[in-house]
Amino acid sequence: MGQASRTTKLLLDFSKRSQGGANPGKRSHLEATVAILNDARRFYLDFFLAHQDRLRERVEVISKPTGEVSERLISADKLLTWAEFETVETAAHPHPLPAWNFSQRFPDFPYVYRRSVIKDAIGRVRSYLSNLANWQQAGKKRGKPGLPGTNNHPTLYEGTFSLQLDGLDLHKTFVGLKVYDGNGWIWINYPVKYSRYFEKRRTEPGWEQQSPKLILRKDLTGLHVSQTKEIKAKKVVQSKRDPDLVTVAVDLNVKQLAVITVRQHGQIKATRFVSDQGLDQHRFRHLKRVAKKQWQTGRCVQGERSNRQLWAHIRRQNLDTAHQTARAIVEVCEQYPGCVLVFERLRTIKAKSGSKSRRLNRKQANQLKGKINQLAKEKAYAIGVVSVEVNPHGTSQYCARCGGKGVRFTSQAGQRVRGPGGKLFFCPVCHYECHADFNASVNVHHSFFRELHWQPRAHKSG
Ligand SMILES: [Zn+2]
Repeated sequence: MGQASRTTKLLLDFSKRSQGGANPGKRSHLEATVAILNDARRFYLDFFLAHQDRLRERVEVISKPTGEVSERLISADKLLTWAEFETVETAAHPHPLPAWNFSQRFPDFPYVYRRSVIKDAIGRVRSYLSNLANWQQAGKKRGKPGLPGTNNHPTLYEGTFSLQLDGLDLHKTFVGLKVYDGNGWIWINYPVKYSRYFEKRRTEPGWEQQSPKLILRKDLTGLHVSQTKEIKAKKVVQSKRDPDLVTVAVDLNVKQLAVITVRQHGQIKATRFVSDQGLDQHRFRHLKRVAKKQWQTGRCVQGERSNRQLWAHIRRQNLDTAHQTARAIVEVCEQYPGCVLVFERLRTIKAKSGSKSRRLNRKQANQLKGKINQLAKEKAYAIGVVSVEVNPHGTSQYCARCGGKGVRFTSQAGQRVRGPGGKLFFCPVCHYECHADFNASVNVHHSFFRELHWQPRAHKSG
């Protein structure tokens, strides 16, 4: 039993008014809201830092079923109640600590927002204190943990936002937000870029909604809703005993981004190649420009980002491709419920040779592999498919059919040209010939079942 999580984004619409976007003044309210919440968070960070002993307090807890008494750290809920008692004016308690009167400093502050910043502050101060204690215990001079930061994206708990989705007309959806306009707190409706995609994800069965966060960026403003889902999946050890188990193996490469093979009862049932559609070439051209510019302008100044837009473009493309490839992998898994997804443990081959642009490109390709691996695992887990990583030793060198040591070659004008970079694989022992990445992908299954002689573990167990 585990939990999968994902984020679904709902963008606020700040396009031109005539196109249905929000009044530009409304954006400044969001900025003011983020700013005042940061101030309030600062207030409580300072408050808890000034009362550290309280956070370290240990309390006795009585277990309800057994009546056993144990001691543990004071809970966040208790701390919250205590902090409110000390800082907030109420009819029953009109005089909070004079130096820490939140009600005076922040009049009419909505209590839901107040609680959200208090909880945030407790979490931050706690993690700061535990880091500090670890650092002191380690006795190192360097690396002293810094004080907790003030800024965060506001969490919108119940009572600070409302999503109005009544109308069937998708173009007229709004989200109501409680915002600060510089003087007081008001409700404002913001038009949103509502889509069927969002609606599908929002209402998908099994996914539970967490409180959204308001993300305010220069180019992008929206609510990020994180969703969680309880996953019931068998453990891999358990699955491995099932004689009808389907394994889906993935070999990640540079040009053929993923070669996916499906195996059951020792037979390869299906294969899917996901090509990079020229991404590697395309990126290489961009990186040549990056390298050239760096060369022209001398060494890049440390801390300063050169070629900012070009890098943003490259990163965005990499991420898009990673999502698409991961989706392709999960689409294959979806056809075989109860299957196990098998990856090779990633190795990064350091590119030392070649031009600067070639080295940069290799690094990007490695990062892309890592991203595909991570996203595919997450997406697969969300549909209840567990992933495993296997030892990558030998998967690209040995024959998937007989285990003999093979050679790589390329076919040029009907002639076989041997070379380590060849896209084709040939086994001199059994004369098997195939695409090298396909051979590697099939070997990933062998590696999972520890079947062939070149597998280190199989050797020992005989
Ligand atoms: Zn062979």
